[in-house]
Amino acid sequence: MAKPSFSDEIANLLYAAHGNPIKTCIQCGTCSGTCPVADYMDHTPRRIIGMIMANYKDEVLASNTFWYCASCYHCTVRCPAQIDIAELMYALKRYSIWKHVYPEELIGPVFSETFVKTIVRSGRSYEPILAPAYMFSFGVREFLQEAITATGLMLKGRVPILPPRIKRLENFKRMISKVIPVGEAS
Ligand code: SF4
Ligand code: SF4
Repeated sequence: MAKPSFSDEIANLLYAAHGNPIKTCIQCGTCSGTCPVADYMDHTPRRIIGMIMANYKDEVLASNTFWYCASCYHCTVRCPAQIDIAELMYALKRYSIWKHVYPEELIGPVFSETFVKTIVRSGRSYEPILAPAYMFSFGVREFLQEAITATGLMLKGRVPILPPRIKRLENFKRMISKVIPVGEAS
């Protein structure tokens, strides 16, 4: 059986989530025109969709576009082809982390991967594990300010010293393994 193309893989990810007909994009540019962060993206939403359809996998995964998406859904509600572009951005993040391919200078991938692993392991978010994913990108002053604030929150019991765990964690792990591709990607 032939290996699915990159555009098929992304279309399948969206289909699993939404039945999203990405291949019906008419390249009208409404999504890019309405996107509040398009100026900061290295490829606009319209362009990234065109690149997916052309199977430009390496170029898409090297892009900051989906990591800069603010999930505002302006594009999704305005797309004349009813493509859920915001969900596409989430699908690209999941795919990129699953394949371990993303621009190293971005905070988003490491933060997202750490967040998901924390949830998978304990069922709860835990800020002290998440913080190193972004704190080292701060200047010295901001880093110290964050560290002082975090210590104060811990001393006041607002942030637990040890990572919390939910009850019936094994049940949760079984459930989440059906929706998150936990494990190594090929
Ligand atoms: S608004 Fe919809 S149809 Fe137009 S370019 Fe964006 S995704 Fe394609
Ligand atoms: S959901 Fe993302 S891609 Fe769409 S308009 Fe908002 S920021 Fe831009």
